[in-house]
Amino acid sequence: MGGDGVFKAEMDAARSQFSSIGFPDSGPGTPGWIRCLSLDGPAGDKTDEYYRLSVGTGEITIKAAGGAGMYHGLQTLRQLFLSAAANGKQCIPCVEIEDWPRFPWRGLMLDCSRYFYSVPFIKKLIDVLSLHHISVFHWHLTDDQGWRLPIPAYPLLTEIGSRRFDKRRGRYLGGFYSHDEIREVVSFAGVRHVEVVPEIDLPGHAGSILAAYPGLGCTGGPYRVEDRFGIFEDVLCAGNDSIFDLAAAVFDTLGELFPSKYVHIGGDEVRFKRWEECPKCQNRLHETGLNEGRELQSWITVKLAGMLKERGKTAIGWDEVLEDSPRYGLPENVAVMSWRGVKGGIEAVRRGRQVIMSPNSSGCYLDYKHHDDLEEPGQLGISRISQLYALDPLAGMEGNARSLVLGAQANLWSELIYAGKIAEYMIFPRICALAEALWSGNAGPDDFLERLTGHRRRLDLLGLLQYRGEP
Ligand SMILES: [Zn+2]
Repeated sequence: MGGDGVFKAEMDAARSQFSSIGFPDSGPGTPGWIRCLSLDGPAGDKTDEYYRLSVGTGEITIKAAGGAGMYHGLQTLRQLFLSAAANGKQCIPCVEIEDWPRFPWRGLMLDCSRYFYSVPFIKKLIDVLSLHHISVFHWHLTDDQGWRLPIPAYPLLTEIGSRRFDKRRGRYLGGFYSHDEIREVVSFAGVRHVEVVPEIDLPGHAGSILAAYPGLGCTGGPYRVEDRFGIFEDVLCAGNDSIFDLAAAVFDTLGELFPSKYVHIGGDEVRFKRWEECPKCQNRLHETGLNEGRELQSWITVKLAGMLKERGKTAIGWDEVLEDSPRYGLPENVAVMSWRGVKGGIEAVRRGRQVIMSPNSSGCYLDYKHHDDLEEPGQLGISRISQLYALDPLAGMEGNARSLVLGAQANLWSELIYAGKIAEYMIFPRICALAEALWSGNAGPDDFLERLTGHRRRLDLLGLLQYRGEP
């Protein structure tokens, strides 16, 4: 492999990917048979992800304007190598490919709170996601069932909040990622041009915070790291200023560890009962001129988004952040992730906010079953491969609003996904369908099904467990 020396990191990553499937760097004859070059001439309006791949009889050339495009070109080549290797061949077809994505945000969320996944598993997953040109790994790091991120000023978050007692197994489960491990994941993903976006779920889904620091709840506890699954009444106390001290410490740590400009602040499924009953929260209502406890969520969102803005970050919230916000509004630097169908996304772009579509009604929830069968793992609904391939993030959006749609992502919540192998089964090959819908657009369901066999063979060769039933 050779080139003009610009794309060393991308070439190093590809070199080991290629040799692991039987295509060593020495190639047919010369060490320089794959040439990685900067795009000649002006890049114009070409996105950083644009590339041209030319496979001729004697050599392979990839040209790109930026590192992301070069990496994508190398991954397309890796797909060709994988297809050849899956068929027991050492040759690939001559092709000319000019390629760039339809949407910049092509994501997968992994819930590492309900079940704790190891760093090697996460790295393996990110590598395979990058093979499919997925651009965002959304890392769900906190929830009622476990806190996974060490915060130096709040050591109990991990000492107490990272472990839950599992009654079924009669022992503690959990874990957390050290700062070095997080840096390792972020750097590994960075070389693969996958952006790691952390999520800290506030002010609901906060059971692990409350177990560690009960003073941050309305009742003072006692609380526990939840072993049950569901939605719980206990949330952070909106009347206690200390919750923002905690948020500041968390945001500072995130700023040190994650280069992404986005921080996901959750905001989903908050119950308001405690706020209605708590004297401190009632004081807060008077002080802020609000009438109902539920409106405090919007007030908190404004505060958190402001704190992130001071740190140069943009907040992302689940679509609940749109609700009850007439008094305090929705800050400019809040992007909305639409999960309860598409209506939150449509409303957010109408209000001029950026949107990532992840509708549970259109296949984006990978904890749902692949299809309606008692033998299939999964819960709550059905998310079919064909639904994901048919996903159009712009459906229902009008005119200029469409430019606010960054893309879409699939989410794997892990209440029932208690092992990496089960996670693989839920992710593949559904993510292949979504990746293609977001990169190229939907060319009709039969079009993708023709290629599904090829996807399956490549996934097999990579040793991934996958669903093989009806699409
Ligand atoms: Zn309260």
